Amino acid sequence: MVYYLNEVELKYLTLNLRPASRLNPVPEELRGWNWHSPPLKHYYDVKLPMYLICGNYCSSGRDVYFTMVEKVKGEELFPLSLGKAVHNAVAGAIREAKKLNFDAKPFECGDERVNKAVKLVWDYTITACKSAFLKARAEQPYASEEDVVLTSMPFLVEHRLDGSLLGCSDIIAVDCYDYLHNIVFDLKVGEVKGRMYTTGYALVMESIYETPIDIGCVVTLNFGDSLTIKKDLHYIDANLRSRWIEERDGKAEIVFKELDPGKAENCSKFCLFKDLCL
Ligand code: SF4
Repeated sequence: MVYYLNEVELKYLTLNLRPASRLNPVPEELRGWNWHSPPLKHYYDVKLPMYLICGNYCSSGRDVYFTMVEKVKGEELFPLSLGKAVHNAVAGAIREAKKLNFDAKPFECGDERVNKAVKLVWDYTITACKSAFLKARAEQPYASEEDVVLTSMPFLVEHRLDGSLLGCSDIIAVDCYDYLHNIVFDLKVGEVKGRMYTTGYALVMESIYETPIDIGCVVTLNFGDSLTIKKDLHYIDANLRSRWIEERDGKAEIVFKELDPGKAENCSKFCLFKDLCL
């Protein structure tokens, strides 16, 4: 399953990342529960969706201006449709697996490329969940079924949170939170890089639950004839947290002051606003 760590990743987590986070702890002022003090305190009365703070395909931030000030909806292109379908498939497969409905089938749409990717990731996810469930049940024969489900699939998927303490939307959906290993996940499709989403999710969770979240993992899926998965397991350190605050404040200023930042220099061909942006 896309959110299970393999043996090498678990070793890297326990022998590298956890010790690094203890040696060089996150400063108190950069913990989400200090949302009411600088530098986390937000000064503009604006609620930004996480994807606008963390998505970095428009270097000038004009996508923020179009979405939040002009209230324009961009044109949904194939990569975005594929990404949405894959996120839904992973979340749906985990939900079905938790109900022990391992024979459930994925939804289909009118696009064969999307259907193929959805089937690959659905089968992979539900099979891995079934295997983890059977293993846990065999090892703990006296555990209740609920206990086995909750420990073999310790994932809150599409976990809804109110990010308004940090100037974010009040309906944020965290891709996945592993509550046994205390890791927050961001799921990406294609070659999209960056650790801003895991940082934002960790800060929002800290602002609500007041529990430290130090480790993030970006899971990148690619689809060809088969599914390939890469994981970027990382420490959500002071540097990442400061960069996230900078992004949030710069974009909140665009919205609050209704400033058009102008055209970026290197526009992505997949930008939703490419037909509007002159
Ligand atoms: S077309 Fe370019 S400047 Fe306009 S929103 Fe897209 S990336 Fe930004």
